[in-house]
Amino acid sequence: MGEDNLLTIEKTEGRRKCPSCSEEHKNLIHESTDKTNIISDYPRVYGKKYRCGKCGQEWREK
Ligand SMILES: [Zn+2]
Repeated sequence: MGEDNLLTIEKTEGRRKCPSCSEEHKNLIHESTDKTNIISDYPRVYGKKYRCGKCGQEWREK
């Protein structure tokens, strides 16, 4: 799965859920570092991205 499938969504209040299939179980939403999204150069801070373990959708939050 490449960058083309990475959605950017508004940060949601409360429980994080998959924008594709609405899965919201914590164990199925995998958080990782998004090295393509540099928030700060010094110190180097990257954004986060999430992947749904159910449907495979990847996304990040604004
Ligand atoms: Zn999903």
